[in-house]
Amino acid sequence: MNDQLDALLALQTADDGIQALEGRLAALAPRLGRLDAERQAADKAVASAQAALERESERHAHLSERAGEFRRMNERAVGQLDMVRKARDASAAGAQVDVTRRALADAESELHAAGQRLATLQSTLDSAQQRTGSIDAEQAPARDELRVEREGIDRELADARAARASLARAVEPRLLMKYERVRGRRHGPAVFPLHHFTCGNCDTAIPTQRRAGMAAGNIEVCESCGVLLYAAPATANASGAH
Ligand SMILES: [Zn+2]
Repeated sequence: MNDQLDALLALQTADDGIQALEGRLAALAPRLGRLDAERQAADKAVASAQAALERESERHAHLSERAGEFRRMNERAVGQLDMVRKARDASAAGAQVDVTRRALADAESELHAAGQRLATLQSTLDSAQQRTGSIDAEQAPARDELRVEREGIDRELADARAARASLARAVEPRLLMKYERVRGRRHGPAVFPLHHFTCGNCDTAIPTQRRAGMAAGNIEVCESCGVLLYAAPATANASGAH
């Protein structure tokens, strides 16, 4: 039975190692996620700057058309003022010139403001595009570092899993099945030493009638928490720190 215990404990050590490696692998994901999010944000900034620029371009074209209409109206009014001879007509034509000139001035000032917004949006788009152009180069060292780490962990995992497979072959199938069931349920260690005939995991006392068998080397299931328990002959007397 002690051979089986040794084999089981070696297997557990291997599984703990694999679990730690898997934890390190999982810890890479958020780091990669942050880089991806940064790149997505840069792409999104370009798209939204492009959309804003298009909207403002349409608005600018519309204002430009309107200013053109007022300019033509003003030119017509000026032309009519030149043609009138009577004083009364001249005053009406002059008023028309004033009205169209004011409308033209307003439209031109709006057009000018739209032109300035257009220039600002264009420069926003330019810098957003520059950012997406440089972000890959900027992120390259961090992505390389992550890839190297991942490859290293993958290699360690492959070795650890191969070693684990050969350790598992040394454990009797029924015991292995029990162990794997407990391990799968707890996502952590499944085999614990007894401490003065109480469970090393949950501290529940082992019934008196099972103690002799355990002292003889039997591996038992804790009735309370379900882990596998063993009495370590060498340390059973020394580890009584309760
Ligand atoms: Zn227990």
